[in-house]
Amino acid sequence: MLTKLDLSGQLSYITGGSRGIGRACMETLAEAGSDIAFCSTTDQLRLDDVATEIEQKYSVACLGIQCDVREPEQVKLAYKRVNKRFGRLDVLVNNAGVMQTALLAMTSFESMREMMDINVNGALLNLQLASRLMARKQRGSIINISSIVGRVGSEGQVAYAASKAAILGATASAAKELAPMGIRVNAIAPGFIDTDLLMGFDAEAKKSVLKTIKMSRIGQPQDVANAALFLASDLSSYVTGEIIGVDGGMLV
Ligand code: NAP
Repeated sequence: MLTKLDLSGQLSYITGGSRGIGRACMETLAEAGSDIAFCSTTDQLRLDDVATEIEQKYSVACLGIQCDVREPEQVKLAYKRVNKRFGRLDVLVNNAGVMQTALLAMTSFESMREMMDINVNGALLNLQLASRLMARKQRGSIINISSIVGRVGSEGQVAYAASKAAILGATASAAKELAPMGIRVNAIAPGFIDTDLLMGFDAEAKKSVLKTIKMSRIGQPQDVANAALFLASDLSSYVTGEIIGVDGGMLV
């Protein structure tokens, strides 16, 4: 059974792998034996350092790519580099994202546009380019990182929730379209996970969210990475079009 979790010989690409949930997914998939490519907007020298760290820690190959998912040419170039170096793609963790919080009446159009550009258009382009590479081998697993607020909404997050709901629609549609090519597409909907994304929440706000979490703890990036490992691996070989909530019971 555990051999089904072994990702040796596979290549996983994680967008937004520099920190938070993406970093945890990257380390977890590397620990399972997968070679890794990842992107972020951080400068290339820093990404090279992270790649070396991953290679030494997990004895896998790792390529860090400076890429802003808002920029189509940079995204296309990233896939060219992945293809040139590894010649395959087995897993995409479509994770890069930003969250800006403001009441609807106070939300600027620039903020709406930025979240749509990164969280939706960037994710869609990655979904498209990844599926093309995966189609060559007629196999692959795409894991879109959505959010609990894409399912149930949240005050002060109309634009962010819209961007994350869009990912759920894309997941369902792509799962239907790509299943005949052996490509599975699923989403993870994290709840409240302890990363830089929550920097805007003060202690009081965190306390009030904590009250809504049945398991009485804030999630860790590793909690999300564990679900990503399941979806990346053959343990989930008959699972597609699903949304896995990783939220400590916020919806029950
Ligand atoms: P985070 O710690 O702020 O990490 C965000 C990651 O996305 C970073 O690696 C960042 O890299 C990258 N990124 C941001 N803009 C980018 C761009 N334009 N191009 C390429 N990379 C970009 O946040 P996180 O909590 O790990 O969030 C990861 C995903 O989980 C997001 O999609 C978020 O919406 C989702 N999520 C998080 C939570 C939560 O509670 N934390 C809950 C639900 C869903 P650089 O800054 O280095 O470019």
